[in-house]
Parts: sequence; structure tokens; C-alpha cells
Amino acid sequence: MAEKRDYYEVLGVQKGCSEDELKKAYRKLAKKYHPDLNPGDKEAEMKFKEVNEAYEVLSDADKRARYDQFGHAGVDPNYGAGDPGGAGGFGGFGGFDFGDIGDIFEGFFGGGMGSRRANPNAPRQGGDLSANVTISFMDACKGCKQTVTVTRQETCGHCHGNGCEPGTSPKTCPDCGGTGQVRVQQRTPFGAISSTRTCSRCGGRGKIIDTPCKTCSGSGRTRKTSRVEINIPAGIDDGQTLLLRGQGDSGINGGPAGNLNVTVSVRPDPIFDRQGYDIWCEVPITYAQAVLGDSIEVPTIDGKVRLEVKEGTQPGTNMRLRGKGVQRLQQSGRGDQYVKLIIEVPTNLDRKQKDQLHAFEKSLSDRNYQKRKGFFDKIKDMFG
Ligand SMILES: [Zn+2]
Ligand SMILES: [Zn+2]
Repeated sequence: MAEKRDYYEVLGVQKGCSEDELKKAYRKLAKKYHPDLNPGDKEAEMKFKEVNEAYEVLSDADKRARYDQFGHAGVDPNYGAGDPGGAGGFGGFGGFDFGDIGDIFEGFFGGGMGSRRANPNAPRQGGDLSANVTISFMDACKGCKQTVTVTRQETCGHCHGNGCEPGTSPKTCPDCGGTGQVRVQQRTPFGAISSTRTCSRCGGRGKIIDTPCKTCSGSGRTRKTSRVEINIPAGIDDGQTLLLRGQGDSGINGGPAGNLNVTVSVRPDPIFDRQGYDIWCEVPITYAQAVLGDSIEVPTIDGKVRLEVKEGTQPGTNMRLRGKGVQRLQQSGRGDQYVKLIIEVPTNLDRKQKDQLHAFEKSLSDRNYQKRKGFFDKIKDMFG
């Protein structure tokens, strides 16, 4: 396997750089190596892929943290695979499940002296999970379907969640009568003290399973890695989160499932820039096109459209294409597209071209340079 380059090096940024610096570096390089701008150039294509991969990792706070700590092995489970005891062992990162933290805390607080634990048999909602997905600028504009992989607690299919082998059923705990708590009387020199403790026979569950389900060992839930399809609506913007109800951990004792929060990252586009629902792009035109006017082709997210450049167009002129912006999220209508006309000054002229331009320039008068004339008139007024 070829040695992978450092992602920060690929993007030419410092390790501690801000998200903004990252975005800027990415845009610059994506533009430079974009396949549309380098047709048939294999090396540019490779570079473009490398830049995209680096940005995808570093723009995601979780992945960036793992990358900073473990390098490529922290973000790519296949990296270094086959190396015994080496970096190959980090494949399980994606499976971390916050639902388990909740369980740990319950274990702590439920076992304390005199703590009031809720009815152990009451339905409880499953834990919420989160996931990230990265999509292209175009997919964000038009909407798309994506699949995310989540590792979550799902109701055990073998026992349907009651924790018993099929054909058996849980018994109410005889020690606590199903409450999960027992009262303990202690004789002390100050008299009898009564306290409540978690029932040790059933561990606070209130029920006893004689033949636990072989699949889930009696917990009623199993950890499963599932693929969840999500419909990403047209108009979504970078950093927005979609809430998928009921796609988190399954509930306990018949409670509702938790939710899945999917944060969407949108890769910057080499040509288009988004501001709200408007799209901005810069289109270079020649000096002659600006002077004489022309009909030019400009890109939109729907494909190319013709735009009339007026005779005598000045640098930085913005032109609006109504309704060519981004679809408004869950509303009707679209934003606009703004085209900023950049005039490219010709360089590398040969002697003959320079002579021609000198001659042409000499033929011009104040009538042809209105702004310039006004500017120098003002200076004359100021300094006499
Ligand atoms: Zn089971
Ligand atoms: Zn009990």
C-alpha cells in the first residue's frame, strides 16, 4: 500500500488551523484540481480525490479528533490492516454507543443507599444516537438519499424483548415483590434505622428470568449495526441536523425508541458559493468582451445558461439570475444566483500586440474614460 500523505499536508494547512482556513484551503485546491477544469489529467484527478478525502475527515470534528490522535488508522479501518497489534485494531470506532453511558449511570445511582429508583418495569425510551453524513454541494441543492450506518440497541428478535427463552416467562421477584427495592432494618446504638436498598436477588429489575434468552442473555435487546436510509431535503445547508424519530436505540419495557440525529456536512463547491438561499459565482471575461459586450455561457446548478454582457461592462459587475438559487428548505421557491463578472487582464503580450495596444490607447480620449476623467477632475479641485 502506498504511504498516505498527511491530511494537513495535503491541504497545506497547519494542524491547529480553524474551520475557515480549512474551508479556504480546500476550495482553492478543489478548484485547482477539479476534473472539469483538468479534463484527461490523471494526476489532477488523483490530487482531487486526495484533497476531497482530506477535507472530508478534517471538516468533521469527530473524525479530525481521531485523526489527530491516531493518524490515518483512526479514521480508516482498513488502513494498516494485517499489521498484527498495529493500527488495524481501531475499526470499531464507529460503534461507540452513548446509550451504554446511560446504563452505566443508572447502575451507579440505582445501587446507592436510600436512592429512589423508578419502577424498574416502567417503559423507558431508548437512547438518542447521532451520526454524520457528508454530501456534495449539488446534492444539498437538489436533495438526495443517503445511508448511514448506526450501531444501536435493537429489540431482540429471539425473545421479542422480554429476555426469556421462547416458551418461558419472567417471574416476579419473591424478595421484593417486583419493586426492585427492599427495606433493610439495622439496629444501631441510636435505635433502628430503616433504609431502602436495591434488591440483590433480582438486581433491581423486579423480575427473575430462569431461562434467559440465548441471544441477548436476558437483556431483551441486542447490539446491531444497521443501515438507515435518510431522505435529505433539497436546500439543506452545511452543519444542519436532521432528526429521525424512532431510529435510535429501541425502548425498554415497551417504551418508545430513541431518536437519531444526523448532522449534514456539505462539501464546498469549486465554482458555487452559497449565502442563505442565494448562489454566488465568479465568471472571468476578457477585456474585449467587457468593452464590446458579448453573449456568454455561465454555469448554474441546472446547467449552463446564456447571459448577455452589456457593452462597456465594468469589472466586478454583479448580474442576477432570478430563481436560479437554492430550493428553500421545506418551502416553495428558490433563491437567486448572482454572477460576478471578473475582467481578466491579458498577460504575456508580444511586442507587436503591445504596439497595437499602445496605438489603440492613444486613439482614446476622455469621452472613452468617464470614470477616470471624473477622478482626475476631483483631484484637480482638491490640490489646484
Ligand atoms: Zn432475547
Ligand atoms: Zn427483587
